[in-house]
Amino acid sequence: MNPYILVVEDEDALATLLQYNLDKEGYQVAVATDGEEALVLASERQPDLVLLDWMLPKVSGIEVCRRLRARPETRNVPILMLTARGEESDRVRGLDTGADDYIIKPFSMTELSARIRAVLRRIRPGLAEDRLEFVDIVMDRVSHRVRRAGREVHLGPTEFRLLDYLMQHPGRVFSREQLLDAVWGSDVYVEARTVDVHIGRLRKALNLDSEMDPIRTVRSAGYSLDSEAA
Ligand code: CA
Repeated sequence: MNPYILVVEDEDALATLLQYNLDKEGYQVAVATDGEEALVLASERQPDLVLLDWMLPKVSGIEVCRRLRARPETRNVPILMLTARGEESDRVRGLDTGADDYIIKPFSMTELSARIRAVLRRIRPGLAEDRLEFVDIVMDRVSHRVRRAGREVHLGPTEFRLLDYLMQHPGRVFSREQLLDAVWGSDVYVEARTVDVHIGRLRKALNLDSEMDPIRTVRSAGYSLDSEAA
């Protein structure tokens, strides 16, 4: 699943440019044009990274940062500040408030992309990697290929995204609803048992005869990728 970036920027032209370029790079993107909207969007769906402009109407960037850090569910979300040249004291305050890094306007998209990847790699290694591994399963996220013990595994697009998400969080148990939100998206209406169907297909594609089933079904809770499964 591609990382979800929340862009908080009140300058229309820059917001549009950021959305266009990040989308082109494969990120999922949402734009908030003021601090209040940013807090609402962040509570509706947890971003993998927040690009946060410092000078914002209504609620300032520093306040947005402070409030995101105060909420348990967004406490660890990486925040990359966008600051204007000369706002040195703001940068220091921003880092004190919990921003992970900052970038000075004007910046190039190449520079911004590099910073985003660096922050994602540092904070959640699985997100920014081109290649994920779990025991004998290797996923190449660039060529969209999956191999198990050297054998090619053919997956449909949904199974691929499902496996991608599970491989980013090995050992963690996800409910069907959490998987629906992460893999299908929260704005799509799909019944929870659809997850079971796709988990079934994923298992069938991954597991030959006597191979260990890496997906653990947790009764009444959900699923997890677990090397102790089966
Ligand atoms: Ca601004």
